[in-house]
Amino acid sequence: MIIILKAQSEQTIIDAVAARIRELGLTPHISQGEYRTIIGAIGEEQPHLVEYLEEIPGVERVIPIMKPYKLASRDFHPDDSVYSIGDTMIGEGYVTVMAGPCAIENEEMLMEVGKAVKSAGASVLRGGAFKPRTSPYSFQGLGIEGLRIVRQVSHALKIPVITEVMDPREVDMVVEFADIIQIGARNMQNYNLLQEVGRARKPVFLKRGLAAPIKEWLMSAEYILSAGNERVILCERGIRTFSDETRFTLEIAAIPIIKEVSHLPVFVDPSHAAGRRDLVPALTMAAIAAGADGVMIEVHNCPDKARCDGPQAMFPETFAELTGSIRRLAEIMGKKMSPVG
Ligand code: PEP
Ligand code: MN
Repeated sequence: MIIILKAQSEQTIIDAVAARIRELGLTPHISQGEYRTIIGAIGEEQPHLVEYLEEIPGVERVIPIMKPYKLASRDFHPDDSVYSIGDTMIGEGYVTVMAGPCAIENEEMLMEVGKAVKSAGASVLRGGAFKPRTSPYSFQGLGIEGLRIVRQVSHALKIPVITEVMDPREVDMVVEFADIIQIGARNMQNYNLLQEVGRARKPVFLKRGLAAPIKEWLMSAEYILSAGNERVILCERGIRTFSDETRFTLEIAAIPIIKEVSHLPVFVDPSHAAGRRDLVPALTMAAIAAGADGVMIEVHNCPDKARCDGPQAMFPETFAELTGSIRRLAEIMGKKMSPVG
């Protein structure tokens, strides 16, 4: 349920309402707007409590949320969310470009790619240390050594970094090295992992499962939000369909659909969706034109020698041309490119 307090409620009223919600076995989540405070009473929906809650002094209105996701819904949080990570901005009003290699292969290459993508306008550097590979014989990433490298490069170049965590037991460790934690498509429904990153104090980038309907994806975001982490970013990265010209099928409609029902920032990963670098610019522009808050793009200094996902990695030069186009489109959309420290 959503409890809307009377305009300019004092803290004592907010505390009293929150205490009553706890007495009912529900968890209060407080969202303080400029004029009004909205409290989400999160737990099993109990419509018979509406009248009871409306009696509490200071409460203006109580609305049951019929959607299965609550904290992710726009009913609970009407304004678009925006997060800052250092100087990097994610969400409302910004277009944010995350870029870098699929996997961290060594320090030199990450430094080279990091410099190139930052100077082209990317404000988050990506790089996988733990790689979810289809074959157990493929390169699985450098692990902890990769985490050390990504932190070092982040520090040297003054750019925040995103990297994937695959195992709930490794969340505490990855959090130490990363500015944004990535949950890969294959783990979108690993609920133990979602709860664990829900307890982390770093934003979570939640990729859509390979065959996940939008509602299930939002329920996965709800797992993270309900565990206490308010900073979730969604990423559409293509889904499985019968079409086999591309690696996956990018569902552009997912962007406006989510924007209507949720306040969470929505990104697109055109690289994994296409599986081919030549299609990345077109999918990127389509995503931003459809309202995406940003993109995640794979870039490699030498894609032919990449240990992972070479065919979809852009060359630094063509990536720089693409960010020029992104900048122009962002302006048309009334947005700014995110700054970077
Ligand atoms: C990745 O971003 O490195 C990745 C493996 O993507 P996905 O989980 O979307 O396949
Ligand atoms: Mn990849």
